[in-house]
Amino acid sequence: MRRVCWFRSDFRLTDNHMLHRVLKDMGEGDDLDFVFWLNPKYCHPFEVRHDYFFSTMRTFMDDLEAKGLGLRVLVAETEDAFVKQLGEMDVLYFNAEYVEPFKQRDDRVIESLGEEVKVVRLLDRHLFHPDAFRTKGGDPYKVFTPFKKAAYAEQPPAPYEVDVDRLSQYIRSKNEQPSELKELFKRCKREWKGLGETEAKKRLTRFVNDRMVDYDEKRDIPSIAGTSRLSPYLRTGVLSIRTIAEQVLSARQSKGRDTYYDELLWREFYYMVMVKFHGLKDQPFNDKYKSIEWEDNEEQFEKWCNGETGYPIVDAAMRQLNETGWMHNRLRMIVASFLSKHLLLDWRKGERYFEQKLIDYEAASNIGGWQWAASVGTDAVPYFRIFNPTTQSERFDPDGTFIRKYVPELKHITDKSIHFPDPSERDDYAMPLVDHKEARERALERFKAL
Ligand code: FAD
Repeated sequence: MRRVCWFRSDFRLTDNHMLHRVLKDMGEGDDLDFVFWLNPKYCHPFEVRHDYFFSTMRTFMDDLEAKGLGLRVLVAETEDAFVKQLGEMDVLYFNAEYVEPFKQRDDRVIESLGEEVKVVRLLDRHLFHPDAFRTKGGDPYKVFTPFKKAAYAEQPPAPYEVDVDRLSQYIRSKNEQPSELKELFKRCKREWKGLGETEAKKRLTRFVNDRMVDYDEKRDIPSIAGTSRLSPYLRTGVLSIRTIAEQVLSARQSKGRDTYYDELLWREFYYMVMVKFHGLKDQPFNDKYKSIEWEDNEEQFEKWCNGETGYPIVDAAMRQLNETGWMHNRLRMIVASFLSKHLLLDWRKGERYFEQKLIDYEAASNIGGWQWAASVGTDAVPYFRIFNPTTQSERFDPDGTFIRKYVPELKHITDKSIHFPDPSERDDYAMPLVDHKEARERALERFKAL
């Protein structure tokens, strides 16, 4: 029998449900192929997130080679072309995607394969199946707290064992680098630290052992490493969510540990909401806000993207995103609120900008986060709670360390005025795009009208 494992965003050999399952199924005389579908359409323009993704993939391929394994990279622009290249086979395995549009892509691949090929889809990217929790009335949860309560009552699944030595007995594929992949690898210019499974696990262990206990107190301060920074590993699948949950929950109970596990459950919640309620990328969860009249101001949008709004904390955050492909959670909330409330620009524009840039982009978490901040989503912040960027800055970056790192124009300014410099201190720095008070009033009126 010929069995094929289709890797997507799961670049890891340990605790990989697909690999665990295929090893269980392998029989005498069976052979095994690892494949990856490269669709060149998706890499234009080549952004920092592509650099991160393909650098990770290259590290994974090196790891495979070192263990006598390999990945066949198939270049195709459509599902049919991909299936053609897969060739004859009996069983296709992959770790399921539940969120649109990836689920639909997988459905099309299965349709194109026809009935002779057996398909094994496995739950891997999340702890719980999207149908795992229901309200008493049998509906999906729309509010986080009761969802969390239900999730706390369940034991998360243990990591899956994978015998890598056994894999190398069966594997037929060698690493293949078609010219399209070589070209993408060449375009990866950044020096990423800590790529690959071994490094990711070290980072997880360091966080759990040394920093998790203080997570509840330090996670809101962007100038320090108060959070785990594991999101890019989750995105590329270098680290499994089960491995993380197991280490976290076996640590000694603390407020930090519980708060951290809650965050993992937010990830579960948003993905469950996205699966159960369709079309959230384009429409707010809350119908009431479908007709909100957003401003149409391309110039202000561009200034927000470039970190030139004249609000130092917003600008530092956007520059962090543009330079590194990652942004601290507190800052994601601040800039999303600023775009949707202060500038009254459509949250969907911001969501798409984040999609373009983030190395940890997850549709469900990003859309959930944006709808939360714009007050149009499930369990969202009420519209009348509008973040004041200056007081947020004073609270979470009190001495301006973070601002100074990303907005060098303000390096010389005192700690006190760095959060909102006077016009006379803005020689090299933008004037504020809007006045906080006026912008706040305008947003309140616009939301209240609905
Ligand atoms: P930690 O604080 O160490 O948290 C650990 C893990 O928990 C994270 O890696 C992530 O998987 C999960 N998590 C933490 N907070 C959240 C949250 N609020 N919602 C869902 N999951 C969470 N997260 C993404 O992974 N991808 C996105 O595209 C994304 N977009 C966002 C957009 C906005 C507007 C907002 C407000 C939040 C967004 N988040 C997103 C959630 C959060 O900002 C990131 O998960 C977090 O900053 C990643 O850094 P970390 O790994 O150090 O997080």
